[in-house]
Amino acid sequence: MASLSSRSTEPADLADSTGSTGSAGAASASTARAGANLTALRDHNAAAVLSLVRAAGAGGVSRVELARGSGLTAQAISKIVQRLLEDGLVGESGRGASTGGKPRTLLALVPEARWALGVQLGRDALTVLRADLAGRVADTRHLPIDLAEWGPGPVLDLLAEEVNRQLTAVERERVLGVGVASPGPLDQQAGVLHEVTGAPAWNRMALRDAVADRLGLPTEIEKDSTAGVLSVLGSPNRAFIHLDHGLGAGLVLGGAVQRGARTNAGEFGHQVLDPAGPRCRCGNRGCLEALWQAAATPEQAARLLGEGVANLVRLLDLDEVVLGGREVADAPEAYLAAVREVLDARLPDPSWQRVSLAVAPAGRDAVALGAAGLVLTRVFG
Ligand SMILES: [Zn+2]
Repeated sequence: MASLSSRSTEPADLADSTGSTGSAGAASASTARAGANLTALRDHNAAAVLSLVRAAGAGGVSRVELARGSGLTAQAISKIVQRLLEDGLVGESGRGASTGGKPRTLLALVPEARWALGVQLGRDALTVLRADLAGRVADTRHLPIDLAEWGPGPVLDLLAEEVNRQLTAVERERVLGVGVASPGPLDQQAGVLHEVTGAPAWNRMALRDAVADRLGLPTEIEKDSTAGVLSVLGSPNRAFIHLDHGLGAGLVLGGAVQRGARTNAGEFGHQVLDPAGPRCRCGNRGCLEALWQAAATPEQAARLLGEGVANLVRLLDLDEVVLGGREVADAPEAYLAAVREVLDARLPDPSWQRVSLAVAPAGRDAVALGAAGLVLTRVFG
C-alpha cells in the first residue's frame, strides 16, 4: 500500500509545504467550518506531538518518550495527549516495557480519525482519492476527461460529483480538506493557474477558490510534479520526475519543498539539450521534452530522460530520484534501467555519488496522493 507518512525522517518538508494555507478568503472560511472539531491541532505543540505519534507507527509510543522527543514537560504532554485522545486522533495501543515502575501505556495514531482528499487534474483523466492520516489510500478513482476541450465548468461538475460520492463513505466533518494538483504554470500561493499549455480555457483561473466554493472544503492547489514529490517521504534531497504529457520535476532540498520565486520551479522538460533541435511547444528549440517526445524508440526516450536526470542530480547533488506518471507506469523497468545506466556513466564517482532510483510506489495515484499530503501537513507539526 502506498504511504506518504510511514517514514518518520522528514517532518520538515511536509511542514514547509503549507505556504498557502488560509490565504484565500473562501478557503479560510471553509477551513473554519471543517476544522471546528480540531481544537487540539490549532496548537503547534499538539501538532508536533501528533507527528511524533505518527512517526512511532502502529507499535505506539509512551508519554515519557513523547516528552523526550518533543522537549516538552511531562505535564504538557499529559494535557496534549488528553486532548488528542478526546479528539480521537490517537488511541491507546497497549503497554510497553517498564523501566522499573508500572508498565507504560502506548499511544498510536488512529489513521481513520480524519481524511484528506487528493485530486489530480490531468489532461485526460481526473483522479480523486481519499487518504487517511497515515497517508494510505482508502478509495481512488480515475475518470476520463478532456481538460482542454471541456474547460473548467464540466470538469468541476465531475469533481464535485465524485467528491460527494467519497463523502458518502465518511463523515464530512472528518474530512480535513482537498488538495488539487494541476499542470502548471500556476501561482501556488495565490491559487491561480497561468498559461496552461494547450488548455486556454483554464488560463488565469482562480482554481483554489473555485474548488473551495464548489466543495465547501478547505482547498490547496499545487503543481502536479511538486505534489508528486510529496507522495514519498524519502531523502531530504530528492526529486520526483513526472512523465506525463510533458516532463516536470518536484524538488525537495535540505528537507524543504522547493517552489522557487513564483512557485514554478521544476520545469525539468524545458532544459535545452540541443539548441538546434526540434521546436518545443514552449517555443524554444531542443528542449529535453521535445527530444523525448520525438525519440524514435522507447529505449531512446528513456536514455534521453536519463541525460536530464543526470544533469539534475549533478546540479543539485540529489541522492534520490523517483520516477512517476503514466509513461513510467507503462514501462517501469525500461526507464529504471536506462536512467541508471546514464547516471552511472555521467556521475564522476557513481559509487560515492550513489543515487537511489525508484518508481513512485503509489503508481498512478502518486500525484493525487501528494496533493492529499498538502492537506495532511496541516495536522502534523
Ligand atoms: Zn520547451
